[in-house]
Amino acid sequence: MLKVQTTRKVSEQAFERAHRIARKEDIDRGGLYDSRSGAINIWCSPRDKPAGYGYEIRKGALNYPRDYIATITSRRNKPEKCTVRLELQVDPERGSTESLGRRAEPTNEELKWAREKLDNLVERGKKEEVMKEFLVCPFCGDKIETVAFIDFIRHISNHIDVVSVERGVEGNVIQLASGETLFPSDYVQKRVRK
Ligand SMILES: [Zn+2]
Repeated sequence: MLKVQTTRKVSEQAFERAHRIARKEDIDRGGLYDSRSGAINIWCSPRDKPAGYGYEIRKGALNYPRDYIATITSRRNKPEKCTVRLELQVDPERGSTESLGRRAEPTNEELKWAREKLDNLVERGKKEEVMKEFLVCPFCGDKIETVAFIDFIRHISNHIDVVSVERGVEGNVIQLASGETLFPSDYVQKRVRK
């Protein structure tokens, strides 16, 4: 039986963004989440774990040492309300390295840690919701509201030839004929959406 710890109500948009953050920070990539199913599972690592966590965190078949702690499930309210009810459940089967029989009930520290992870995901999802990215030309300072990234490249091409555009970890990396390189931090700005 899962132990329901807490519930949160968030907007559909904020939840989708929280979900996207969880997917980016997947356990396979060194993160603490896995959301391959509709739910988001929260895992702990040797560096980020509940205080007093008494189980050895091993790698097993995973890419990084991780122990499963809790699951966030979502329930959609009436469609017109556009809110999602999230339930955080801490599982007695948490942890992958001890047999179930040796697992004690979730401790208060485990519940607290899992709740912090839920709140963090929700907060970040809300914050991204109100931030809108826009692109600024580093040559003329124009703000460019693009529909497609190619529009931005076309604009840059007015100033200087673009040699190549490559997808980097943070976004597109643009090589210019001058030998210069434009990174996302050179041309992406964020502002609060009105
Ligand atoms: Zn320009």
